[in-house]
Amino acid sequence: MAGKAKRFSLEDIAALDAADPLAPKRQEFAVPKWLIYLDGNSLGMMPLAVKDRVTTVLAEEWGNSLIRAWNSHRWMDLPERVGAKIGTLIGAEENSVIVTDSTSINVAKAVSAGLSLNPDRRVILTDNSNFPTDIYMAQGVADVLGKDHTVKVVAPDDLYEALDDTVAVLMVTQVGYKTGLRQDMQKLTACAHAAGAITVWDLCHSAGAFEVDLAGCHADFAVGCTYKYLNGGPGSPAFIYVAPRHQDAIQPMLTGWIGHQTPFAFDLDYKPAEGIKRLNVGTPPVLALSALDTALDVWDDVSMAAVREKSVALCELFITEVEARCGGFGLDLASPRDAALRGSQISFHCPEGYKVMRALVDNSVVGDFRMPDVIRFGFTPLYVSYEDVFNAAKMLEKILREGLWQNPQYDVKEKVT
Ligand SMILES: *Cc1c(COP(=O)(O)O)cnc(C)c1O
Repeated sequence: MAGKAKRFSLEDIAALDAADPLAPKRQEFAVPKWLIYLDGNSLGMMPLAVKDRVTTVLAEEWGNSLIRAWNSHRWMDLPERVGAKIGTLIGAEENSVIVTDSTSINVAKAVSAGLSLNPDRRVILTDNSNFPTDIYMAQGVADVLGKDHTVKVVAPDDLYEALDDTVAVLMVTQVGYKTGLRQDMQKLTACAHAAGAITVWDLCHSAGAFEVDLAGCHADFAVGCTYKYLNGGPGSPAFIYVAPRHQDAIQPMLTGWIGHQTPFAFDLDYKPAEGIKRLNVGTPPVLALSALDTALDVWDDVSMAAVREKSVALCELFITEVEARCGGFGLDLASPRDAALRGSQISFHCPEGYKVMRALVDNSVVGDFRMPDVIRFGFTPLYVSYEDVFNAAKMLEKILREGLWQNPQYDVKEKVT
């Protein structure tokens, strides 16, 4: 525990909220009364406008136009239209992002495409802070290709050293889900390229959390979720980015008809569509894409620099208050102390962390738990206030001091933690 940082008074907190340029954005979300929601890094809150959009799509588009809506309401263009909105948030070139499938599927599509650009090499390099599904998908791709590809997993700090002339694809999640450790995209991409490797970046905990500059970093491929910081709703489809220089060179692994050059020619042979469209596979999920399309409008008047500035301030406030209040209960900061090395979440190692988190949730402070002992809190500046963060730290202190986590109900783990 550091505990040297300056403490905050109630007046300080009120002043921070009063001066917060993002404070009005909260009104654009469905914010449940009395809930302190520090889990927008897992499932973002619902933008209020989504409800009307989905209602309209149901009543008018599906309900009334039926199959005609593929043309009249441009359903078929949703993957690219929604992709373009995300592209502006992640520094992508025009026509380089589509929204389709899940992140897991898109990891497989990006990794296999990356391997096809580097046919003489056999290693997919990643690190052990990566989210397991990314590693599983890479292992599956390696197996399916049947060309002796292997997935090499090293510690995050060892990625640079492991970039040798066997590495075909470097697959990295920019912000680790457990501790929030953030990799330097610019530097790591440059090192990968110097070593002759293609990069696949997972932006699940980056998109909507801070500025990302895919084009400026010369990234090759990227994928990411839309239900975390982008508030697209549970299971909303994911995005995939391919740098324009690679788009027409890749042969997709999943060669579905929507990625065909002329789907409605019903040719019996696959020919990839031009550009990013070839990463489409099957029929777009129109309801989910429509919800996401409207959810993304909350970003129209938001500066990502302001989001990052507030995110850092919220995280610093939380660390300071938790360490000052909860010293003596065995909490240990699991996230990097230096804000430059973090995404927009704070994690603590916490003895009995699972039970402590259950008690927090039962007391209206929602974060989550990750094995083996990490309590995790996400900070989403569009709808989280300084007061929320201050009160969350106070509640954590109360739960530890009063032993509220010792409820026998918490002995049994729920399916989703
Ligand atoms: C959340 C997350 C996923 C989730 O993938 P799904 O296919 O949507 O289940 C994948 N990778 C990372 C790094 C994540 O943070």
